[in-house]
Amino acid sequence: MTFSRRHVVAALLSAAVLCATVLSSAFAAGVPKTPGSPVLSEIHAWTNEIYTRVAVYTGDEVSWQADTLPADLKRGLPPRIFIDIRGAGIKNDILHNPVDVHNGLLRQVRAGRFSRDVVRVVIDLERASTYRVFALDDPFRIIVDIDGEGKIPVPGAEAATQASPASPPALASPEAPSQVLFAPQPPPKPYRVRVMIDPGHGGKDSGAVGPTGLKEKDVVLSIGRMVREKLARIGEYEVRMTRDTDVFIPLEERTAMANKWQADVFVSLHINASRNRHAEGVSTYVLSRGASNREDLEVAARENGVPVAKLSGVKFIIDDLFTGNRKNESLRLAKTLNDAIFRKVSSRYRNVQNLGLKQAPFYVLVGARMTAVLVESSFISNAREEERLRDPAYMERIADGVVEAVRYYGQNGALARSDS
Ligand SMILES: [Zn+2]
Repeated sequence: MTFSRRHVVAALLSAAVLCATVLSSAFAAGVPKTPGSPVLSEIHAWTNEIYTRVAVYTGDEVSWQADTLPADLKRGLPPRIFIDIRGAGIKNDILHNPVDVHNGLLRQVRAGRFSRDVVRVVIDLERASTYRVFALDDPFRIIVDIDGEGKIPVPGAEAATQASPASPPALASPEAPSQVLFAPQPPPKPYRVRVMIDPGHGGKDSGAVGPTGLKEKDVVLSIGRMVREKLARIGEYEVRMTRDTDVFIPLEERTAMANKWQADVFVSLHINASRNRHAEGVSTYVLSRGASNREDLEVAARENGVPVAKLSGVKFIIDDLFTGNRKNESLRLAKTLNDAIFRKVSSRYRNVQNLGLKQAPFYVLVGARMTAVLVESSFISNAREEERLRDPAYMERIADGVVEAVRYYGQNGALARSDS
């Protein structure tokens, strides 16, 4: 990956006052269970003026600690969040090339050797912020989510306050300034629910593979495109996909894309697999710290690309501000979505199992600031379901279920949005 993925928006400079969330030590530090040869090799940032996610890659697991520093006026330094990483090397180009952001929320992300044994990553802030830090495995990376203070603007309201490009030129001409005051205002654009569709896996990551070689990454991409087309035809939704080609995108980047765009709904599309070749059916998940049984934990581990053992000690924050507020909505959407897919598919195909609503620690849902679900809409490891997944008519049924649930959310989610 290159730094071309960094998204930088116009700066809105304001006084830099640090008001960082004080983290409990359980979330602010990590100690490796297995030593390796970690090297600080990549820093990425995804950002808009109220949100930034920074990902710091070290490859192997490291011992780390995050904290904050107040502004140092004498040295001309802004308030900072820093992460001290013990026993890691640092790539030369990281040393010499800070990641510039300058978006009114943070200035830059830089790294250097703090002491013989410690590499320090410093996030220079531009204004009051809260932050959360957690680590993901395989490859090991430390994720920092930074929130600007203040209410998150509603995209529809933002559009209504922008100058209308459709205004007649005469009204904007210098000869008739008074008319501008009385120019009819265009009606505010109706709010369009923003839907981020996330076809899982891609590129080097095939996802699960069926007995005759069908790949999960290809199936979910097809279903994702179907969902996008169907929602576009309805016209009341803005739809984006985290990927619409066969490309690899890290899990934390998918969430960051949805947050940066301020999506209302995030639907991650997957196909299940099991060592039990008879396992079949549809299930939909929301994020939780653990799982109620080994099977669900195995599903999350496989989707996260880590061994089950690594999930038992997850350090990430589940009940943070955004996830907490959205948890009930996510549970409702997950149930609606699962039932809708089951109904659409079983109206045409026999013996479809409804495995229902479940919860597990999926990396791709951590830190999502919107209603977020992950659907496992069949078992590719089951010969009959793999065969069905090769049939576009079957995938259409799954896509119809997703669309029906998203429409239900769109029609009933206004109340929830006005509460937030
Ligand atoms: Zn998957």
